[in-house]
Amino acid sequence: MLDSTPGTQFRLFDAPEREPSQLVGFAGNRIDRQAESRDEQSIRRALADPAARVMLMREGRLHIKLIGTTFDPYLTLDEARALDARMEDAVLLGQAGSGPVLAAPAGRATDALPDTMKAIEYRSIYVQGLIDPEGLGAMAQGASLLAWHATHRFCSRCGHNTESRIGGYKRICLNCNAQHFPRTDPVAIMLTVTRDKCLLGRSPHFAPGMYSALAGFIEPGETIEAAVRRETFEEAGIRLGRVVYHASQPWPFPHTLMIGCFGEALNEDIHADFNELEDCRWFARGEVRDMLARTHPQDLAVPPPGAIATHLIRYWTENS
Ligand SMILES: [Zn+2]
Repeated sequence: MLDSTPGTQFRLFDAPEREPSQLVGFAGNRIDRQAESRDEQSIRRALADPAARVMLMREGRLHIKLIGTTFDPYLTLDEARALDARMEDAVLLGQAGSGPVLAAPAGRATDALPDTMKAIEYRSIYVQGLIDPEGLGAMAQGASLLAWHATHRFCSRCGHNTESRIGGYKRICLNCNAQHFPRTDPVAIMLTVTRDKCLLGRSPHFAPGMYSALAGFIEPGETIEAAVRRETFEEAGIRLGRVVYHASQPWPFPHTLMIGCFGEALNEDIHADFNELEDCRWFARGEVRDMLARTHPQDLAVPPPGAIATHLIRYWTENS
């Protein structure tokens, strides 16, 4: 039972009012999803609303309006149709203050777009901050949902065609009536720490000099904490004691949820898995501060500011 006596503290809520998850990239989505009222008419109603806006996406890129030197991720329905958008495959993201927001597959290839439109990779839009946090969050929702639809056109039970339902939040099989729901893949990302240093690694595909927290998919039947311990031991040979959750981040590549944790190292001798990592080592707090500030003498750095890895790293340097 909760103790509501004035002056007493309930430890569960002894946390900052601004959740750490609100600070990461792709977390700024303010669209009211209205999940409880989705039905077979949701898309039709949205498309009948003159205030409706559409995000167009294709092959990992947002098709975005260039207005002078700024970008607008939203198109009117007329603008979208004039660009041959596949509105029959649109999904409804929900209701924004200005009206319904949809996402649809773009109908034109990059080289067939007018000069006023650019096709920019989701990752570039995020790293370069080309649109505001609300738009980034909406893009993540739309990109993840459209990616799922693109790969679930056939029933995984019987192989027959499936069709989108309730605004794009379900597909049903026209043959066996199986229902299929959009998936989100959980990935644990963890900063392993001691009192005065943290463990960072680099994958071969990272930008030169970049180091980050280790990460891996959570497997079926596994808790978040167990995945954090397993991945840290597999990749670095470090056993963990306590594991605590810190923040999460929607990650639309294609439909992942990054779950950020801290882990307490029980040993310091690293046995890195060089099939996965190019390097893995301990970094002292001062060195990590230089990497965050981009003042490291060897130009070592952490991921961009919106990345959950960077939030874990920054939080550790400021709170331990
Ligand atoms: Zn089926």
